[in-house]
Amino acid sequence: MSSLADTLEKLKKLDDERAKLLESSKSALLNSIKDNLAALSDLGFDYDLVASGSAPRARSSKSAAKPSGRVCSICGQSGHNSRTCPKKK
Ligand SMILES: [Zn+2]
Repeated sequence: MSSLADTLEKLKKLDDERAKLLESSKSALLNSIKDNLAALSDLGFDYDLVASGSAPRARSSKSAAKPSGRVCSICGQSGHNSRTCPKKK
């Protein structure tokens, strides 16, 4: 009969084993992916392998939302400037 301590010890060993298996599987997979990426690169396709946790931040939407062009200094409308303002006579 195994005591609780024995069971916990076994579970811990299984966890260690699991972590080792995961780690070795992961590095094997990563190596084959890197090989494939290198093959793609040879064909002229450039891809970067990025772990999702370290993905670069999406570009800030502020710059994309920024209105293009200036506003007219006379009437405050965009699309023209003070020189071509229709309100200027
Ligand atoms: Zn104007």
